[in-house]
Amino acid sequence: MGNARSGNRRPSHLCTDQVVAVDVRALSRAGALRPGTAFELSTSRAGVLARCRTLGTESFEAALADSEFFDFERISLARTPCHLGGFRTWAVCAPCSRRVAMLYVVNRRFACRLCAGLRYRSQRESALDRLGRKLHHARAALSWQASLVEPLGGKPEGMHWRTYANAVHAYMQQERVYFQGHRRRLGRS
Ligand SMILES: [Zn+2]
Repeated sequence: MGNARSGNRRPSHLCTDQVVAVDVRALSRAGALRPGTAFELSTSRAGVLARCRTLGTESFEAALADSEFFDFERISLARTPCHLGGFRTWAVCAPCSRRVAMLYVVNRRFACRLCAGLRYRSQRESALDRLGRKLHHARAALSWQASLVEPLGGKPEGMHWRTYANAVHAYMQQERVYFQGHRRRLGRS
């Protein structure tokens, strides 16, 4: 039996801006979702990605351009009324059935951001936060004061000098990366 982790083929660490995104609102504005309309999904980097045709108000089909089998994937659409009249068009993510504005193409499948296992770039930047947590853990393991701005502490009783020296060395390396990252982050905002 596979557990949730092994059954989940997430392309971890990929961000939404690294894969082909299908913006359903943009398609709708461009008139591509009128029944019978043929359109292409393309990017400047990858060229034509898929040839599509809108079937009716409820779905469009897409064939990936380099598909050997030329299999069409059907993407369901949903509409919700707007306050000011008219309606808003959504795509329905096939794996989770949620209504979403954006679908992404990962592993030759169209799926929402969560099903595709994608992160926003800002989430990836929280690697800095994870590093900060690591430093806190390291401080706790060494019985140092918790705050990262406090000086390094001494060797805990009972710890081998070599273990201590390695821990301090690792800590100082990570700390340097952490504060560099913070300076960069502050410099940008
Ligand atoms: Zn989904």
